[in-house]
Amino acid sequence: MKYIEEFRSKDLAKQIAARIRQTVQPEREYHFMEFCGGHTHAIFRYGVQDLMPDNVHYVHGPGCPVCVLPTSRIDLMIRLVREENVILCTYADLMRVPASERLSLMKVTADGGDIRMVYSTQDALDIARQNPEREVVFFAIGFETTTPPTAVAIRQAQAEQLKNFTVFCNHVLTPSAISGLLDSTPEPGEKPPVLDGFLGPSHVSSVIGSRPYEFVPAQYGKPVVIAGFEPLDVMQSTLMLIRQINEGRCEVENEYTRLVTRDGNRKAQQLVADVLEPRDKFEWRGLGWIDNSALKIRSAYQEYDAEKRFACLQDADNLIAKDNKACECPSVLRGSKKPQDCKLFGNGCSPENPMGSCMVSSEGACAAHWSYGRFRTAQISSKEKPSPETPATVETEFTSADKATA
Ligand code: SF4
Repeated sequence: MKYIEEFRSKDLAKQIAARIRQTVQPEREYHFMEFCGGHTHAIFRYGVQDLMPDNVHYVHGPGCPVCVLPTSRIDLMIRLVREENVILCTYADLMRVPASERLSLMKVTADGGDIRMVYSTQDALDIARQNPEREVVFFAIGFETTTPPTAVAIRQAQAEQLKNFTVFCNHVLTPSAISGLLDSTPEPGEKPPVLDGFLGPSHVSSVIGSRPYEFVPAQYGKPVVIAGFEPLDVMQSTLMLIRQINEGRCEVENEYTRLVTRDGNRKAQQLVADVLEPRDKFEWRGLGWIDNSALKIRSAYQEYDAEKRFACLQDADNLIAKDNKACECPSVLRGSKKPQDCKLFGNGCSPENPMGSCMVSSEGACAAHWSYGRFRTAQISSKEKPSPETPATVETEFTSADKATA
């Protein structure tokens, strides 16, 4: 398959790994945050960390929309289903995220709530068309990648004069998350993560372009490389970050040139700007309240805004959720702790029985650590660690991926 297999080639992976080993300066440590959960899973699935020299470290970031959604927003949806008897449409990952009082959308469904998993906003519109006597609410979450389809759905609903369709808008913004992260204050007893640069998200950047990250090197002195999600993309982007640091450069570079430009997709940006506008502030799990970090529906489309239609959503910003205090998701999302630093990791919390959002989501760091068993790899001695020249783990993963796509 074009543009998939080429970016999973084990021979090319060995070549880039060799170039990285030649380029790193042995006397320094390199700490790079992969902002997005898609990168985390590529690093874990393909054993990219095993191919790196010991002084190159990846730090997991907050780029998983399910993980950063605060519990209070799920509590609100549970209240809406129970009090207003709506049909709630949502993506599958949200179903099992723990809410307050040991609830989840899945448990509310088992209890008779009408919550339906959808693959797209178009599915939600279809449900509204098929159930004109019921209120249908789409629980919209995601970064800039998933925002245009929400805007399209709202415009379609208006064009069709659909009276029973609304959107609970929780779309969040990547550049604000990066500044929120870099400005965040560590919890008492917690060390801030050491960060030398960022692997920027490619899918988000295909919409917003690379320009919105330019404040990161300018204001915070951290380089950014927009990185694709295939393993070779991640490795090449790591090499680009290492070169910037060695050469004393600090700028935004674009590795994912096959889709990302500096200005992004102007048509999608205009569509979003027509329907949605920035919120004054929004709460993020792990990062707290960040100004202008999320979007809400413009007043011209308020007929389709669930926050305007349902009274129980109007105090959305004042709800206090009851989170599991033992769950370390906030610290994991800030990059201050690794999943295995949480005492519940594998000890009550697993993908089958998640205690926090980072174990539920297919992009969550805890799910990645657990699913690919890298926490076990970390326990083996360096003698047992696969040699970069013979990357056993990567060869195994690349072989199985080849079979899967054959
Ligand atoms: S292991 Fe579970 S409880 Fe611990 S931080 Fe991860 S999701 Fe939260």
